[in-house]
Amino acid sequence: MTIIHLGDSSFSEPKDAMDCRCDEITEIANTMEAHNYATKHLHRVGTIEGSGGWEIQYRCPATGLDWIMSFPQGHLQGGGPCILRRMRPD
Ligand SMILES: [Zn+2]
Repeated sequence: MTIIHLGDSSFSEPKDAMDCRCDEITEIANTMEAHNYATKHLHRVGTIEGSGGWEIQYRCPATGLDWIMSFPQGHLQGGGPCILRRMRPD
């Protein structure tokens, strides 16, 4: 049996942006995933007033949906685990 290498370079090419999942998901509780999604897909809007900098607002460039990244244990070194939640549209 002969193995044929197709030389498809697009297969291993890293993506610049993550696929938008903002319509499907409302919360990412895994710190790594939340961080990845926020940095690779969302645009940072700014910190939430009164949160002491432990809540950061992000916006999806594709859907315009707002997300909040929060650090419930922000007093820990490095900010501790983070959670990403989609804001409910009013
Ligand atoms: Zn999105």
